Amino acid sequence: MIDKSPFLIARCNDVADVITAVDFGRDNNLLVSVRGGGHNAGGLGICDDGLVIDLSKINYTRVDPKSNTIRVGGGCTWGDVDHAGHAFGLAVPTGIISTTGVGGLTLGGGLGYLTRKCGLTIDNILEADMVLADGSFVTANAEENADLFWAIRGGGGNFGIVTSFLFNAHKIHTSYAGPTLWDISKTEEILKWYRDYLVDKPDDLYGFFALLTVPGPPFPEPLHGKKVCGIVWNYTGPLENAEEVFKPILELEPLFEHVGPMPHPNLNSMFDVFYPSGLQWYWRADFIKEIPDEAVAQHAKFGNELPTPHSTMHLYPIDGAAHKVGQNDTPWAYRDANWSQVIVGVDPDPTNNDKITKWTKDYYNAVHPYSAGGAYVNFLMDEGEDRVKASYKDNYERLVSIKNKYDPSNFFRVNQNIKPTV
Ligand SMILES: Cc1cc2nc3c(=O)[nH]c(=O)nc-3n(C[C@H](O)[C@H](O)[C@H](O)COP(=O)(O)OP(=O)(O)OC[C@H]3O[C@@H](n4cnc5c(N)ncnc54)[C@H](O)[C@@H]3O)c2cc1C
Repeated sequence: MIDKSPFLIARCNDVADVITAVDFGRDNNLLVSVRGGGHNAGGLGICDDGLVIDLSKINYTRVDPKSNTIRVGGGCTWGDVDHAGHAFGLAVPTGIISTTGVGGLTLGGGLGYLTRKCGLTIDNILEADMVLADGSFVTANAEENADLFWAIRGGGGNFGIVTSFLFNAHKIHTSYAGPTLWDISKTEEILKWYRDYLVDKPDDLYGFFALLTVPGPPFPEPLHGKKVCGIVWNYTGPLENAEEVFKPILELEPLFEHVGPMPHPNLNSMFDVFYPSGLQWYWRADFIKEIPDEAVAQHAKFGNELPTPHSTMHLYPIDGAAHKVGQNDTPWAYRDANWSQVIVGVDPDPTNNDKITKWTKDYYNAVHPYSAGGAYVNFLMDEGEDRVKASYKDNYERLVSIKNKYDPSNFFRVNQNIKPTV
């Protein structure tokens, strides 16, 4: 779906290479994009006729078990971090697919299986090393360049290139996790139950809701190709309590369940195999506070019409620990929303692009009226300035003033752009 041809790709090994690439891009007046994990559906890791600064070789990690922190190179994927931390029984809140880049996911917010327990990924950044538009190297944390530190916790790649992150890690090794699936005809019943059930449950219990088509193995053969609704759970409380916690869930008699003790990296990579690189993607998103019955009915309708086997809809919880951070403490302006909703048309065959795009847009138009307004910036396509502003709400002006200070020429503009006003 993304078909762009840059002039040059700078495959950086270290900070020195990043500085050289930034200086070269600036001195030659090139359009510059920054590539972390390359997962951005809007194609913001690449650009036409410009310079791509590719960070994927800066993929080192260093775990400090004394302080429970992990230092992560700016081009790592989440699989690198899961792997490094797990040996020490440590985990950083990440997304649900381990091939996603740490850089893009973190700078936009970061939501996944640990959101309710440990907050968004941005709530766990302690420090970042950065190369700015003028080629200078700085560290941003609560004391040093505190304005920049505020801005990168949700403001995307607008302010500079992060060459390393320092994350707070949590003592999470094995949780009780996995999917429960029901026939698509039960979407209304299960979604209404889910919407009411999870919200007041302890932060130890997480579950994202999904509409999907059951892929092939390892799922049982009779289910292959069947449209279903489901919830993918992660319970991080004491394992001895898990069966009790899952009792009311399993009483809903899922068609299929695979919940049980699971090492954290296994959970985070469980669906990688179904979403390899090279697929066509088109998505649309919203933040959600409530899911009224009218919205539930639309989900049921469009779930029945999933256009291709890879297409899906996810409702990711963003309450729990993510609600304990103030609305203006980071740029993430929807601390009062309960879900981040994403409708995703996906297929390997480019001839189906119109089909997946149409379903996604129609579905989005039908449920958008029930949303909170903006969307998670990492789930935006090229949807214009107003949509970016809506996603940051009253934090937008502060982001602009920090952009004016650190990148007044808008050198970093291949992103959900915060336009400078100087
Ligand atoms: C299969 C899949 C699953 C996903 N699952 C989740 C999920 O569970 N949770 C979630 O929160 N999101 C999820 N996402 C969305 C994801 O957060 C965004 O697509 C994000 O932009 C990906 O980051 P990346 O580094 O891989 O992307 P890229 O395309 O490489 O970059 C995206 C943007 O980030 C900037 N950027 C990347 N690295 C750096 C850096 N080090 N310094 C400065 N700027 C940088 C780029 O300039 C660009 O603007 C998923 C996406 C996909 C495709």
